Amino acid sequence: MNDLYVTCEDIISDIDFKTVRDWKDRTGGKAVGYFPVYAPAEIIHAAGMLPVGLAGAGDRLDIQHADARFGSFICSIVKTTLELGMTDHLAAFDALLFTSICDSARNLCYVMQRNFPEKYVDFLHLPHNPSSPAAAEFLASEYRRLSARLEELGGEPYDEVAVLHAIESFNENRALTRSLCDWRAERPHLMKASELYALVRAGNYLPVEQHTEMLVAAGAEFEGRAAKARDSIRVVVEGAFCEQPPIDVVRIIEQAGCYVVDDDLTIGRRWFTEDISTDGDPMMALAQAYLDKSVYSSVRHDFRKPRSQGLVEKVRNRKADAVIMLVAKFCEPAYFDYVLFKQELEKEGIPHLLIEFEEKLFTFENLRMEVETFAESLLFA
Ligand code: SF4
Repeated sequence: MNDLYVTCEDIISDIDFKTVRDWKDRTGGKAVGYFPVYAPAEIIHAAGMLPVGLAGAGDRLDIQHADARFGSFICSIVKTTLELGMTDHLAAFDALLFTSICDSARNLCYVMQRNFPEKYVDFLHLPHNPSSPAAAEFLASEYRRLSARLEELGGEPYDEVAVLHAIESFNENRALTRSLCDWRAERPHLMKASELYALVRAGNYLPVEQHTEMLVAAGAEFEGRAAKARDSIRVVVEGAFCEQPPIDVVRIIEQAGCYVVDDDLTIGRRWFTEDISTDGDPMMALAQAYLDKSVYSSVRHDFRKPRSQGLVEKVRNRKADAVIMLVAKFCEPAYFDYVLFKQELEKEGIPHLLIEFEEKLFTFENLRMEVETFAESLLFA
């Protein structure tokens, strides 16, 4: 597992997108970067292009240009993504895609459009009211619009069979990811959350078929592991749905006495709770799945099922002892939701700890102490 894990960490920390450049050199295809959390990667794949999940620049880029285009109280991923563009690190991308997740991300789309007129930069509208009878057709029409724009950009002409095949490929990848997450929840002493995080996140930068092979290899490797469980509390990590914490933050949570039995890290790659149908019109199938088979998330409103209820169910299903709310600094959606989550967790008697992170974190000692104190307070209660 070590080699695979190191490879994954290299891939996710590479702000020059070597995997994307290599794929373009090999295939002559175009690459489409999409801002988290969710984008219909199947449609991009079916157009013969490489969908790439962007995740900011972590601690590998100093902000020199983005501060002049955004105010101070804006989360780090918005600024580092823009900085990537301003410093030519996004040159490998022929298109950039954004969705309706928050005001900062929406503004980033239009700042990008203005600064990079040579690129196709688009904003995909995801429905806000999934119970509306018009929602599925509205979303399918957005997907058709995207498909037509990709075709104009030089992609393959729309081909229903190609989209169905793409759905199959992503279904397989997501099913494997789900099964690894289930496996980890049962045996967290054998699979580190930091390893799974790197493994799943590496999929943002690779063709889905290649990433699926990695997941298969990782699954076999995990199955062969043996280790003794240690005294730790079982936690669900929640709140980092968009900006991703440094991998060291996840490591410290584990080292400080927690088994992470579920999380919402890189949730875009685990967006669907079950396979998307491959019957009928694939655009409608993708739209219907977004409405009815998606995970709960702070960036996806579903009045039919409150998010706080989803979190409590996750805690119960994973037999977790506590929740660690891992929230990106200046992330309004996460902080708004924290109030709702906190109320529900307190009502249910589920302990929780709030931690704020930034992409650039260099000192971890306070964080380690906070988590250790929290874990010990539960272990020795
Ligand atoms: S981290 Fe939060 S504030 Fe920043 S873009 Fe994502 S949802 Fe918006």
